[in-house]
Amino acid sequence: MALPLFLIGARGCGKTTIGRALSHALDYAFSDTDHYLQQATQQTVADIVASEGWHGFRVRETAALLAVTAPSTVIATGGGMVLADVNRHYMREHGRVIYLNVGVEILVARLTAKPEATQRPTLTGRPIADEMAEVLSQRAALYLQAAHYVIDATQQPEKIVQQILETLSLARAG
Ligand code: ADP
Ligand code: MG
Repeated sequence: MALPLFLIGARGCGKTTIGRALSHALDYAFSDTDHYLQQATQQTVADIVASEGWHGFRVRETAALLAVTAPSTVIATGGGMVLADVNRHYMREHGRVIYLNVGVEILVARLTAKPEATQRPTLTGRPIADEMAEVLSQRAALYLQAAHYVIDATQQPEKIVQQILETLSLARAG
């Protein structure tokens, strides 16, 4: 039974894009915790945050993580999934955790190019570049702490998928 693969990283690092492609390459199922939450609640992330606050959203996010975890599944997680200890431990214990590492400048370029693809309420109400820098500085250590593998996710998507496959097969061989 193949362990689930959890993709973690900041908003815009490519969890959904790479997750889908990786699931096809491995012939795995694909789940996205943000998408699951929206389906389950019939609300957008912004709606949930507006009605229940970030704390309410985080509680639901943990439940979503447990709900989507299954063998032979690639799971794209929300950018803040690593904030809760319980989520980090759960992912490490139940599967392999892959951090898609992308620096602030590239994240901002992606998010400003296609803001509609990654709708999220701002965390601070400040300009996106400042906010991303602050959020990443707070979370970088948590992404590293949670990850079994760190992948350079600034490359072309096909290259990233290839690198993940190589890393996983090396890990299996070793
Ligand atoms: P996440 O799910 O981590 O928030 P997405 O997969 O939605 O990130 O990607 C955010 C944006 O960046 C999308 O517009 C996507 O097309 C783009 N993108 C994702 N990965 C790459 C990549 N490796 N190279 C260039 N653009 C990318
Ligand atoms: Mg996503």
